[in-house]
Amino acid sequence: MSYCVNCGVELDGTASFCPLCHTPVVNPKQPVDTVSPKPFPTERGEVAPVSKWELAVLISAMLVSVSVCCAILNIFLPAERTWSLYVVGAAIMLWLWFVPPLLLRGMPLLIRLVLDVAAVGVYLLLIAIDLDGMVWYLGLALPIVLWGGACVLFLGLILGGGRRSILTTVTLLVGTIGAFLVGTELLIDRFIHGAWGPSWSLVVFTICVALVIPLIIVRRIPSLREEVRRRFHM
Ligand SMILES: [Zn+2]
Repeated sequence: MSYCVNCGVELDGTASFCPLCHTPVVNPKQPVDTVSPKPFPTERGEVAPVSKWELAVLISAMLVSVSVCCAILNIFLPAERTWSLYVVGAAIMLWLWFVPPLLLRGMPLLIRLVLDVAAVGVYLLLIAIDLDGMVWYLGLALPIVLWGGACVLFLGLILGGGRRSILTTVTLLVGTIGAFLVGTELLIDRFIHGAWGPSWSLVVFTICVALVIPLIIVRRIPSLREEVRRRFHM
């Protein structure tokens, strides 16, 4: 039995190099066994990547089957409302979210976002029509959807150009989530009470700020940044 002279790991009789540190194995008392099969494969195999079209077909098939199953259930178990239409609408929305961006790589962010926001907007509009809820749709749902779209656009424009570090991404993400929630509560309050009385969103916002400030400090001080990189293997 040979051992690596560099790292001390026990070596298989067929090893001519240490598999961990690649130090050549030299053991005059036990020459390398070149006849026996090696305990692990010598060639690196590759798993063929999933084709985008196959993935698109899979997602589409999943959404269609969920829709069809719900429609059939709805027919055989009649309820007061045709609830399956809600599932079908959600399936169409999810399809618009995931499949076109998958197939049309390089789709401009703005177009993608407009498509996604429009899908949510139309879906909620159909629910509002069904439930006779145009008041909450125009007063609450649509503004929140548009505000969410604006927040995602902001993030996309800043993070999209060039590679950003994980620290920057997390900082911006946490900050944007805080801003989105404050805006959402403002819209809810304005709709229900007619005035802004921030409560829960300020708590969340404070937590977000409490997270963002250390992140900014870490980003600004190179030695701290390196330390964090090392600790978290970034
Ligand atoms: Zn070694």
